[in-house]
Amino acid sequence: MKIRKFFRGSGRVLAFVFVASVIWLLFDMAALRLSINDVNSQLLKELVVKERAAIRRQATRRTHVENRVFKHPVQKVPVDLRNDVKNSKKYENIAEVYRKKQKPQPGIKEHNVAQNVANPKPDSVTLHSQKSDRKVNVKHMVEGLNGREVARNQKEATLNISKTMSNSDKVRFPKAVTQTIKGTVAKDNPQNGILSNVKDPKLTKAPSGVQEERHVITKVPQFKEESQKEKNKENIKVSSHKKTNETAKPGLQQQLPKNDTKVQPKPDSQVAAVVNNAQQNTGPLNKSDPYPVKTQIQLTPQHMAQNVEPNQVKTAFVREKGGLHKVMALDVTLKPRDARAVGQFGQAAAVPKDKEQEVQNRWNEGHFNVYLSEQIPVDRSIPDTRPALCSENMVHNNLPTTSVIFCFVDEVWSTLLRSVHSVINRSPPHLLKEIILVDDCSTKDYLKEPLDAYMAKFPKVRIIRLKEREGLIRARLAGAAQATGEVLTFLDSHVECNIGWLEPLLERVYMDRRKVACPVIEVISDKDMSYVQVDNFQRGIFKWPLVFGWSTLPEDVIKKNHMKDRDPLRCPVMAGGLFSIDKKYFYELGSYDPGLDVWGGENMEISFKIWMCGGEIEIIPCSRVGHIFRGQNPYKFPKDRQKTVERNLARVAEVWLDEYKELFYGHGYHHLLDKSMIDIGNLTEQIQLRQKLKCKSFKWYLDNIYPDMDAPLVKAEGLVFNLGTRKCLAIQNRTIAFATCDLSNQNQHFNYTWLRLIRQQGLCVVPQGLGNPVSLEPCDNTKAQQRWMINTNKLLAEHIIVESTPRRMCLEASSKGDGIYVRDCFSGSDLQRWQFTHYYAQ
Ligand code: UDP
Ligand code: MN
Repeated sequence: MKIRKFFRGSGRVLAFVFVASVIWLLFDMAALRLSINDVNSQLLKELVVKERAAIRRQATRRTHVENRVFKHPVQKVPVDLRNDVKNSKKYENIAEVYRKKQKPQPGIKEHNVAQNVANPKPDSVTLHSQKSDRKVNVKHMVEGLNGREVARNQKEATLNISKTMSNSDKVRFPKAVTQTIKGTVAKDNPQNGILSNVKDPKLTKAPSGVQEERHVITKVPQFKEESQKEKNKENIKVSSHKKTNETAKPGLQQQLPKNDTKVQPKPDSQVAAVVNNAQQNTGPLNKSDPYPVKTQIQLTPQHMAQNVEPNQVKTAFVREKGGLHKVMALDVTLKPRDARAVGQFGQAAAVPKDKEQEVQNRWNEGHFNVYLSEQIPVDRSIPDTRPALCSENMVHNNLPTTSVIFCFVDEVWSTLLRSVHSVINRSPPHLLKEIILVDDCSTKDYLKEPLDAYMAKFPKVRIIRLKEREGLIRARLAGAAQATGEVLTFLDSHVECNIGWLEPLLERVYMDRRKVACPVIEVISDKDMSYVQVDNFQRGIFKWPLVFGWSTLPEDVIKKNHMKDRDPLRCPVMAGGLFSIDKKYFYELGSYDPGLDVWGGENMEISFKIWMCGGEIEIIPCSRVGHIFRGQNPYKFPKDRQKTVERNLARVAEVWLDEYKELFYGHGYHHLLDKSMIDIGNLTEQIQLRQKLKCKSFKWYLDNIYPDMDAPLVKAEGLVFNLGTRKCLAIQNRTIAFATCDLSNQNQHFNYTWLRLIRQQGLCVVPQGLGNPVSLEPCDNTKAQQRWMINTNKLLAEHIIVESTPRRMCLEASSKGDGIYVRDCFSGSDLQRWQFTHYYAQ
């Protein structure tokens, strides 16, 4: 009975509550309608719809961008030797991908390493080639040579061209061509017969205006055959170090290789490059020869490094305007390649069980597998990862020369050497003016005398030593100041330049000196040192707050523009470490901001500068350079790392971002606005430079170069509608008040900025302590007291919270709608709920 009564009673209560809430709801709806009618209801409704659509659009755009951004363009080898050396099983599996031609892992492209590389026969070398069906077995001599020509020039080399190969095959070099070249190193000249790798005879056609043999053989008419003896004599003659009269800049202690004309290559360091001029314009040397290989040239390291000094070699190549040649595919080696060498062909190298501890111990020397790097030959072969047909590209004969600048601080010996060798071995000598190593005050002894001694063998290599640690940016400037080439090519000191890397870069600069050309940066795994091909169509971009990342060009853009994988890609931001730029243009642009310290932000600075001041940044898919991406900078920062990078970025933002700098500061860098906390240095020169160059606005850059970037200037804007009073904030006679909402009234229009101010023109809504009305003050981005947080959590949804006080206080309308206060936050009150007309970001 009691229970029934209770239910009857409670049922009545429930019914009452239900009816009351329905009535309340109806009133509420009526009130809402009334209030909307009050305020240009039609307009508001439209705005609400628009706003929602915009937010939805934004949300999808944001996730779209987030999904694309900052995913590295390759899947890195998922093994962390640092943490789990026992993973080596997995690690071997990855290696198998390349060897056994299994289905590659997502993002990792298969290297076209011939299958028998895994089990090479003794004394035979199998070279990868771009087409997997091109397998070339070589004994001491390597692919790409016309057998007879070699035999003629190198008397002791004998060739045995596979009989299965038809003549036309030989010329086109298309399918499973097995070319076995038996050869011995010429006894009368230790420089002969040393292994070299010229990928494809057709690809190494010398530019008609660039007579490569003259790098080696001076005063010899083009294509005239001469005895090997004569060549050798000349080789020695030109192998002396060049002299340079350049004086070091103050503050720099320039150290050049000792000028010693007697410097002779030691037998073990000899290099012979055989350059195949397969299709010289003047026709084949021997007309009956089915293989139109014109000349083979023996190059020593000295030649590679030195012969291109036009004023030193009297009969230097003459540039011929207008002529074209197929991009050259040089790949010189120090000695015959050992297919079984660790990491050969860019394959993943395995760490023996008993060396795992050593790997860990030495990891911090470079923040990569320093142990493995040391095992890998300094001139190892890597897979030619260029898109198909890149090797067929034509480039101009009269490309400008370049100075390659490597800056380093405490770089690991083996990677520094491999970087330098990859440039010497894979760059057309006549285009490589010099290699400048800028030692940014390294602390390691091996980078002092031992490096000098090693590099003395390479006359083109110059070493500049900075007396003080200047940081990457000023180190590059020091290198550039000493450079004599027409184009500056900056590279990191742990890279491997791939076949044919240089000419495509120089070609773009040659075509338009305002083009700044970047190679595709591929990945040398920090763990197993394998060379990993990256995905196509990757552009360098940034995300707020000026964080660099990669983003794949959207499929529809590729389709719409009929883009091919080898087409240059316009790139909003360069990665920073690897690029070629016309030297004069670099200085016209004002080079780098020398106020940038150590590392960071310089890629943003130069990218904005290039684009906004009339240049272009391109990624050139036919030029590829491997780079070891490290988890951490292995060198010390003289000051705090974070502070250094932040300061650099703030300099960039102040000079280049115009009104968009609020987005930068608003993404976690508010504290940089506080001048008492950080001194970003003087920017007058940088600002003047921008004016002098008449550079375009950052808005122009966003609209035209990086339109897919999400960059709303404010987080929210429009009317500030209070749900409790159904009125809007307004400024009347410089005081804050409530008014009937009116979209057309500019006095009711507020911005909620990236620095979280509620702003109208120069005036901001500022709290004045608990229980007090808010006031208007001139906006000041540096003042934390002016900041408000729009709460997005469910509990205090649509509340506007004072940011600067530990006690949580909210913006509240008085119930009569005649005042605006700050009170303790309360979730149940609509007087504390506010809505902006538009929201652009959370
Ligand atoms: N570097 C330098 N001085 C510095 C910092 C860096 O010369 O104070 C060199 C460094 O040795 C490397 C290049 O600048 O060759 C780029 O640095 P890092 O590889 O650390 O940059 P990341 O590739 O990580 O962007
Ligand atoms: Mn690097």
